[in-house]
Amino acid sequence: MDTSQHPNNEARKLAEGLKRKGISDKRVLAAIGNVPRHLFIDERLAEYAYLDRPLPIEKGQTISQPYTVAFQTELLQLKPGEKVLEIGTGSGYQAAVLCEMGADVYSIERYQELHLQAKETLNKLGYYPRLFFGDGFEGLPQHAPFDKILVTAAPEKNPEKLLNQLKIGGWMVAPIGGRQGQRMTVIKRISNDKFRESEHGDFIFVPMQKGTDE
Ligand code: SAH
Repeated sequence: MDTSQHPNNEARKLAEGLKRKGISDKRVLAAIGNVPRHLFIDERLAEYAYLDRPLPIEKGQTISQPYTVAFQTELLQLKPGEKVLEIGTGSGYQAAVLCEMGADVYSIERYQELHLQAKETLNKLGYYPRLFFGDGFEGLPQHAPFDKILVTAAPEKNPEKLLNQLKIGGWMVAPIGGRQGQRMTVIKRISNDKFRESEHGDFIFVPMQKGTDE
């Protein structure tokens, strides 16, 4: 089995393609070039693993398109050691990219089956983010505050409880909007009760849903 210690050519080529599409952060590209994406999807889809496309995973969810993973990760401007909370573990692929960047990674998933599967995949590859089964709308108050928060499912409006788990000076990257499409939004916490927003283009994500499921 491929592991992160044995990066594959296909992942490196995928990263080169993302560079041509405008991703410029070298650390993000290096991380994508090191993660074996084919191990995060059903083996029947393996031949599509290194194309720049979203792919289906269990429970009607998706592993985001690599460009989207890279774009969101670039917006995070992660420094090694920063504490980052991901909402929507899904396959675990984005969490692996964050681990590759040297972040202290926390991730929440609302489907127990996806949570357990992602844990198995990540640990087999030697990634040990802190994974939680629960409702991401609640965040992780017991582990807050976070330097950065990355939301990989779409909330219809700003997730207030999560914003309050940011450090002052930290920010959240989230696709915000309804089922027709979302705006990639960066919300920076300027002071205890002051936030500043910027928008970064249109995307389509699966909706963020309340509560948990098997
Ligand atoms: N980051 C994932 C993308 C998965 S798609 C990856 O790299 O594969 C988005 C995920 O968010 C889905 O798995 C979905 O179940 C999850 N999700 C949706 N609403 C959620 C919520 N309220 N809390 C936690 N996870 C949620």
